[in-house]
Amino acid sequence: SYRKGGYHAVRVADHFAAGRYIAQRKLGWGQFSTVWLAYDTRTSSYVALKIQKSAAEFVQAAIHEINVLSSIADGDPSNSKYVVQLIDHFKHTGPNGQHLCMVLEFLGDSLLRLVKYNHYKGLPLNKVREICKCTLIGLDYLHRELGIIHTDLKPENILLFSTIDPAKDPLRSGQSPILERPEGNLNGGVSSLIEKRLKRRAKRAVAKISLRRDSMGGIVEAPKSGRNIDGIDVRCKIVDFGNACFADKPLAEEIQTRQYRAPEVILKAGYSFSVDMWSFACIAFELATGDMLFTPKGGGHGFSEDEDHLALMMELLGKMPRKIAIAGAQSKEFFDRHGDLKRIRRLKYLPLDKLLIDRYKFSEKDAHEFSQFLLPLLDFVPEKRPTAQQCLQHPWLNCKESTPNEMRNESSVEKVNIGMSNLKIKVGK
Ligand code: ATP
Ligand code: MG
Ligand code: MG
Repeated sequence: SYRKGGYHAVRVADHFAAGRYIAQRKLGWGQFSTVWLAYDTRTSSYVALKIQKSAAEFVQAAIHEINVLSSIADGDPSNSKYVVQLIDHFKHTGPNGQHLCMVLEFLGDSLLRLVKYNHYKGLPLNKVREICKCTLIGLDYLHRELGIIHTDLKPENILLFSTIDPAKDPLRSGQSPILERPEGNLNGGVSSLIEKRLKRRAKRAVAKISLRRDSMGGIVEAPKSGRNIDGIDVRCKIVDFGNACFADKPLAEEIQTRQYRAPEVILKAGYSFSVDMWSFACIAFELATGDMLFTPKGGGHGFSEDEDHLALMMELLGKMPRKIAIAGAQSKEFFDRHGDLKRIRRLKYLPLDKLLIDRYKFSEKDAHEFSQFLLPLLDFVPEKRPTAQQCLQHPWLNCKESTPNEMRNESSVEKVNIGMSNLKIKVGK
């Protein structure tokens, strides 16, 4: 992909935007871009530099993402809405073409990594509550104030961040950013040695940031159990607006990552802000249990992944109202005229609170309260789902005590692939 139209190859200490930003270390990459930690010489702070591939379609996508991110930043000058802030953007010309670059505030690990670090055991419910609150404030801002639907909400797209002011952070100000590459044309041996040294320095600089985050809002290494993350002040921000759209200008018909996809998207019945609320509920469940809520499997069983997905939803939430089931452009693909699935005939209903108690060893009280929070968000009727604003008022977000997480985790929770689909009998066509 490092060819014409593709990624821009970056080396440690490369300069961008007439020397304002200096590359330190690669943070990640995606379909569209590579993302680098960079030092901003103007503000003496670290930023994330997202360098888009250069082909026309990627330029188009970056322009869209910059538009969305600009409205987000314009509406939130104090940066208090739990959504990533765009700091700057510019063009950078390299051997592979002209690349649009976005300068974003530098954030930490994703919730996906947090769940992994916790050995897929589920976070303590108080942590889940904190993450839910930040995410909902972010969603409320996007939905109600800006009219933006994220359309790809998932644990990967929510990043932890530190609440400490970098200017007052002694560790941060004490560390030295990499500012320069060696001058001139050094021969291979020497230059690669210097390169190695620079890379080591870049790694150390970032290690210090992570270490700092460890006590102040992030994580640095895998805690052994749910208990170990108890002391962390958990804050997070919504990122990745490459697929976001303004509600009055939907971009694509097929949106969302499979496991977080709302039923109306599968049925192609149109969508609005409430698709993000569905994904939000899936994320909250995953944080609390370590397992995805829905993991449909497709192919080879006489039914499609879509139909399995709908079956899983109905096994948890009950039968989809007929009116909703038959209302989408794809409805006939899956449902008969009675509103029953065509190929998966026998469903085994397992309500959410029972699932939480039986499989995840929640106390009855926790299971009941958490279900009452999640179930309205998983309403098959999109208009009935609470808005982010309404959800923020829910008592579950403000209840204090819950069964200590380790009591749940130490009980023998069966982690093997016993997806809910094992509970039903599927009948081929
Ligand atoms: P995708 O294929 O998911 O659309 P993309 O090319 O649009 O990818 P992003 O998902 O925005 O790229 O970013 C790629 C990775 O870079 C992220 O998964 C994350 O690890 C890292 N990253 C992105 N933004 C930041 C940030 N602000 N701070 C720290 N790391 C970041
Ligand atoms: Mg992404
Ligand atoms: Mg993207």
